[in-house]
Amino acid sequence: MITAYIGLGSNLDHPRQQVLRAMDELDCLPESWLGEISSLYASPPMGPQDQPDYVNAVAQLHTGLSPLELLDALQAIETAHGRVREERWGARTLDLDLLLYGDEIIDQERLVVPHPGMAQRRFVLRPLAEIDGELRVPTLGRVQDLLEACPQQTVRRIQ
Ligand code: ATP
Ligand code: MG
Ligand code: MG
Repeated sequence: MITAYIGLGSNLDHPRQQVLRAMDELDCLPESWLGEISSLYASPPMGPQDQPDYVNAVAQLHTGLSPLELLDALQAIETAHGRVREERWGARTLDLDLLLYGDEIIDQERLVVPHPGMAQRRFVLRPLAEIDGELRVPTLGRVQDLLEACPQQTVRRIQ
């Protein structure tokens, strides 16, 4: 069993419900169960600004799935939530990013772990630090230190 961390985000079609439902669906994945979950946070969009604010959260997942099996499962959940892949960082009903997979470093065409954007994103680091600020991100260091070094961005705890 590996402890993975999933970053959840939504800014379309009842974002809070999208994120909460996705957490239930993570818990139902084969060989997997949900561990700690963060609060929900609201954050302004990255990239194109003409889209609603996001609801973000992080979930810990204990899993026996391989990294690519887990990525497939995350993408299947995104699709089941009606996600349409359009412009980069455009509005979406659900985004599920694999942030960490134990302490593994993965650099493949379909999958890069630790997630390459995570050290620059408060909407990832804030909820992750809520779960475990002492957690070490391979090659990058402690989550709480990454949060303190991260550029200021508005991230508001909403629940
Ligand atoms: P970002 O990855 O910068 O947050 P995004 O989440 O909007 O952007 P997506 O459209 O969800 O990007 O994913 C694009 C591709 O990224 C996916 O098809 C997937 O193969 C690849 N990918 C690489 N590493 C990861 C990862 N750690 N988690 C999820 N997808 C990943
Ligand atoms: Mg993303
Ligand atoms: Mg994604």
